[in-house]
Amino acid sequence: MDHGRALSLIDRYLKKNLHGKELREFLDHMESCSACYDELEVRSLVLDVDEALRDGEENDFDFSGRLPARIAKDRRRILLDKLLVVLVGIGGFILVGLIIYGFFFR
Ligand SMILES: [Zn+2]
Repeated sequence: MDHGRALSLIDRYLKKNLHGKELREFLDHMESCSACYDELEVRSLVLDVDEALRDGEENDFDFSGRLPARIAKDRRRILLDKLLVVLVGIGGFILVGLIIYGFFFR
């Protein structure tokens, strides 16, 4: 993913509108490109502060760990999605195996 594409996806990422391959490529870029990550960090901070002001969380203005925590969570979700695909694949494989087995060895 190039800089322009990554930067154009920041808003969608912050609105939790990125999924699958696009999300993975976006996070890959953010983790390898400090310029884009800085932009993401600033926009994420603006959003967090805005949200905190609206929610009236006056005492909690430490946002430093929020973006890394969010990225880590999204990474875990991507891994779980992959695991699910693998499990469904294995399940399908076993099912087909059982059907073939039942068909030939009754
Ligand atoms: Zn970049």
